[in-house]
Amino acid sequence: MRVKINVTGIVQGVGFRPFIYRIAVKNGLTGYVRNKGDAGVEILVEGNEQSIHSFLRDLKEKKPPLAQIHGIITTTLAGKNQHTKFAIYKSSEEKELSGSVIPPDIAICDECLKELRDPKDPRYEYFFITCTNCGPRFTTIERLPYDRENTTMREFPMCSFCQKEYTDPLNRRFHAQTVACPECGPKAYLTTRTGEQIQHADAVREAGRLLSEGSILAIKGYGGFHVAASVTRDEPLQALRRAKHRRAKPFAIMARSLEAAKSFAEVTSKEEVLLTSYARPIVLLNKSDAYGLSPLVAPDLHNVGVMLPYTAMHYMLFDRVDDAAFVMTSANPPNQPIVKDNTEALKTLGDIADYFLFHNRKIAYRCDDSVLRVHGTRPSFIRRSRGYAPAPIMLKEKAKRCVVGLGGELNNTSCVLLENKAFISQHIGDVENVETRAFLQEATNHLIRLTNSRVDTVACDLHPKFTTTALAQELAAENDWQFVQVQHHHAHVAALMMEHAVDEAVGVVCDGYGYGTDGSAWGGEILFCTRESAEFKRLAHLEKQPLLGGDVATRYPLRIAAGILSKKVNVDGWLLKHSGHLPYGETEAKLILNQLQKGVGAIETTSCGRVLDAVAAILGVCYERTYEGEPAMKLESAAINGKDALNMKPLIRGNVLDTTQMFHEIFENIGKVSTADLAYSAHAYLAEGLASLAVEKAVEAGVEAVGFSGGAACNQILAGVMRRTVEAAGLKFLVHEAVPAGDGGVSFGQAVVGGFFWF
Ligand SMILES: [Zn+2]
Ligand SMILES: [Zn+2]
Repeated sequence: MRVKINVTGIVQGVGFRPFIYRIAVKNGLTGYVRNKGDAGVEILVEGNEQSIHSFLRDLKEKKPPLAQIHGIITTTLAGKNQHTKFAIYKSSEEKELSGSVIPPDIAICDECLKELRDPKDPRYEYFFITCTNCGPRFTTIERLPYDRENTTMREFPMCSFCQKEYTDPLNRRFHAQTVACPECGPKAYLTTRTGEQIQHADAVREAGRLLSEGSILAIKGYGGFHVAASVTRDEPLQALRRAKHRRAKPFAIMARSLEAAKSFAEVTSKEEVLLTSYARPIVLLNKSDAYGLSPLVAPDLHNVGVMLPYTAMHYMLFDRVDDAAFVMTSANPPNQPIVKDNTEALKTLGDIADYFLFHNRKIAYRCDDSVLRVHGTRPSFIRRSRGYAPAPIMLKEKAKRCVVGLGGELNNTSCVLLENKAFISQHIGDVENVETRAFLQEATNHLIRLTNSRVDTVACDLHPKFTTTALAQELAAENDWQFVQVQHHHAHVAALMMEHAVDEAVGVVCDGYGYGTDGSAWGGEILFCTRESAEFKRLAHLEKQPLLGGDVATRYPLRIAAGILSKKVNVDGWLLKHSGHLPYGETEAKLILNQLQKGVGAIETTSCGRVLDAVAAILGVCYERTYEGEPAMKLESAAINGKDALNMKPLIRGNVLDTTQMFHEIFENIGKVSTADLAYSAHAYLAEGLASLAVEKAVEAGVEAVGFSGGAACNQILAGVMRRTVEAAGLKFLVHEAVPAGDGGVSFGQAVVGGFFWF
């Protein structure tokens, strides 16, 4: 019998062909296996029927740990057997199937780690030790098929030792495209901030020592540069904050080990699984009582973003020092993508870093670290990038169109929806300027090429002035693609619905800003969405509140607070008393009061984020937003040990949840009730109010599922209270599992509307 087998999924770069070789030989079959240009694998087996069945069983049951099989197509061939042995062929260039994809970058495996520490091993203490089970993939592959000459490893011809392992089907490094050793592979070296090389036999460990002593280093990793510093010394962190114009934004840190992470943070079993997974994401961990890191790492927050080492280089940084962790933050100039090239690094990071730890392997595609948070036992993506992208999200059915979604503006990603797979790009960032726009375009084109997709539709936001909207229009015109605009919050709910395979849902979407169908600012929305239509119904929303001074108010939430409070009380005395927290003090306060009196200078928003910001301001938790989400994040931290002391009943008028009364009540209780309890009460009111409104609407419409999406869905208190309210009503509560609840999931939602709803 002769059978041709096409396998799609993540089957290249994960040790799949040697595995096929082994099971073919074991079952006494002849034939071949080869990688295909679309990232799939083609197998031909010859032998008796029983052996072929046994081979197919092994294929499904014993596949390598990192392989993901999405589809197996078998075709029985006529004719005589032609092979006398089983062989691994060189890749074919043919492109028949589409929709397979290369794997994400994978953290160093245990076997490589053991070799790294073995003085007898030829790769002893080699910073770039990898094998078929680990190492960079997505960030090193320029094009398919995944062969060495198509990766940035082609600049490092293998020595005879590496070559021998590479060509031995029974070796762990058989066809490991990143195989290298100190003899033939990439080299690490240390330079000053101006690029002069520092002669040192052990550059990586010397870098660790410099960090430990208080220097700031720029360190080149798999997907880009990190800026690293001590977690206990204030001076380098202060310098870093000054240089990066990051006054308060938390820095992610890398702990030397899980035990070290437990010395300053609480780690639940679910968090432990995530921290030590192949993807090695940053996980937001609650600071423990023994938290002894500098307050400058994650100022005024109850949690801190921690990851574990994921390359040999990272492990070696800690070898000669006692530090439990180092700050390890993405090196990106304000509003620009993460730095990936050596010359670019020297140019843009030279005034931040004291030293550079470089290597001479090029990064093909940049990729930031991923960030997750755990609610109870549910992981929730804040950023889905390294370790996950570009592995597809598998859907229960096939889309009717092949769509590319370009996302919104902040924290953006793009998404290629092909049949039943959604390929979401790595984190792109805020698409506001030419650099990030170029990165978005490049990442999207790369994704389309890698997946061999024939796109016919482009989806984008409704906002007429977004860079992504303009880009979508251009692409539609250039390629003759269908052009679909999707309202921001609709995209959020559509993403939820497709993740959970439900046909209709009432979705609560809470975030900072989304352009509404009426052109106004939305952000505390209850929508009814169905797959039967590209339209949605806005069922209810938060009360409109004024932003005095427009965008300035999102930066200084005291302005929002003044606007809300003035609906109930005279705020003159209060605002003047707190005018020290406005950049222009009393003068500015008087101007605001004047505007209030005349009723001018404000735009209105239903944003949930802005209400939380305003609560943070009146409670003195945060007066200025220096990074996205800061006041609301600090308010959650303030509330984390609080209780619902005020127990306010949701005040619902028609389709609007009142926020003025709640706000006033909090204001009245300042000084009488603890800040923690007041902060918690505000969360409880909003979550309970929105959830009961959503439940009421869902019951009316006979809908069984209520979902929660938007950036605020990362908030543990809001999500927790909402879940209790919805489940108490006997309805199904949907939250995101595979894509971020925030704007990193919008491109997926847009693609879903374009590919499934829009007919
Ligand atoms: Zn390995
Ligand atoms: Zn070598």
